[in-house]
Amino acid sequence: MRPEETFEGRALIGEQEYMDSLPQGPDKSAGAIPASEWKWFGHAAHFICGRWCRFHLATQIGGFIVSTVGEYLPPESSREYTAARKGIPITGRGEQAEAEYIRKVGYEEIGYGRKFETMVFRAGKPCSAPGCSCGLPELSPPNELDFEGYNTPGEAAAGHARLCQTVASVEWRSALIVREAQAEGRS
Ligand SMILES: [Zn+2]
Repeated sequence: MRPEETFEGRALIGEQEYMDSLPQGPDKSAGAIPASEWKWFGHAAHFICGRWCRFHLATQIGGFIVSTVGEYLPPESSREYTAARKGIPITGRGEQAEAEYIRKVGYEEIGYGRKFETMVFRAGKPCSAPGCSCGLPELSPPNELDFEGYNTPGEAAAGHARLCQTVASVEWRSALIVREAQAEGRS
């Protein structure tokens, strides 16, 4: 199988083509939002089952939130159902059952062909819920502006960092304005 036929290969080539299509300034980092102004959050920022994702990164960059989730381990009742449906016996109890499940069944895919994903959204109102106040912004609107999928924690961590740099760049933000103006024109 050639690398570009794999899921990761497609994602990477897509991004490279995208980067190559951008205007080449004398300094590509000019005008970028510096990492010292980024904010990090401890909760999973997207995905309906995000609270069952053991791997999560959320970084706010200007008016955007870059969110990565993965290692989705559904709650116990759902795991019992999945194991039974697949005919995989889980004999342990409690934490042993959990470890056994991860070994025999593994983490769930969170989308087709991927166990991890990064999505970029516009950042809305920061969380000020009583008893929380974690500051994690709402996704407003909840549709993603950019996306990458992966199947290992290493790829997901690298992909999150890469998308943060992308979102911080002037090129990405100006390309978004153009894209949204075009979408507006079509509707
Ligand atoms: Zn909160």
